[in-house]
Amino acid sequence: MPSQTRRQNQNPQKKQWSLQDFEIGKPLGKGKFGRVYLARELKSKYIVALKVIFKEQIEKYRLHHQLRREMEIQTSLRHPNVLMLYGWFHDDERIYLILEYAHRGELYRELRKTGHLTEKQAATYIASLAQALAYCHEKDVIHRDIKPENLLLDHEGRLKIADFGWSVQSTSKRHTMCGTLDYLAPEMVENKAHDYAVDNWTLGILCYEFLYGVPPFEAESQTDTFRRIMKVDLSFPSTPQVSAEAKDLISRLLVKDSSKRLSLQKIMEHPWIMKNADPMDKCSKLDV
Ligand code: AMP
Repeated sequence: MPSQTRRQNQNPQKKQWSLQDFEIGKPLGKGKFGRVYLARELKSKYIVALKVIFKEQIEKYRLHHQLRREMEIQTSLRHPNVLMLYGWFHDDERIYLILEYAHRGELYRELRKTGHLTEKQAATYIASLAQALAYCHEKDVIHRDIKPENLLLDHEGRLKIADFGWSVQSTSKRHTMCGTLDYLAPEMVENKAHDYAVDNWTLGILCYEFLYGVPPFEAESQTDTFRRIMKVDLSFPSTPQVSAEAKDLISRLLVKDSSKRLSLQKIMEHPWIMKNADPMDKCSKLDV
């Protein structure tokens, strides 16, 4: 099924997908613009996640050009830690995205269930993210909306970056008013020009949240979070106990001057990652 879809995208003369090609299963979740269902392609029996987006919503927010561009970006990305977009089709009312199925769902749910992750789990996920982002940055793609809700897990516990980009810009205006600021780098909350280093900052935020269960600059109000981000008001609680090496990595990522943040390559070589990350890139539930 994946190779078939690729071929079809490269050759528009080939048969296009339609809803008739799929058997629709249980709903997997609900997003900003529609629902996601488990689905099986009838011929190959290949299991996918089908994301259904209502055109009306896309038109209302004038997102169609952006959606198309971002779908093209995501289709071109091939990395074990980037959720695959196999293809898409549409009917009068809806757009359907044929996505790789992430069996274990949102990483966020596992984080909430256990409160915080082990150092091994956290390091494995950070290493997977660093590798995926290095790949994306090489292709000049900056995600800018990496947060636990956008991170999914496959059946083996391998992390997959989802929601590639297009939801980013759709919410970017709202970020400053009602969305969460917690994952944004200082240059982004200040609306300054920014580059790929915003993703490195977010890795620092996520690493902290994986280990402590809450993001580092959480506050009662958006204004306070804003202030804490701008001051890099970072402190490490005494519980849960976290190793000095993990704190060292976090401190080297949460640096206000974006040019001084640890590079993705250096993250992968950091002693904490080297010591704790699973080289096979997987986290089993039993590690919890
Ligand atoms: P989204 O519209 O992308 O925010 O997706 C809404 C929810 O559907 C997510 O929070 C996930 O729980 C679920 N979901 C989305 N994509 C997938 C996928 N490829 N595999 C499994 N679950 C998914």
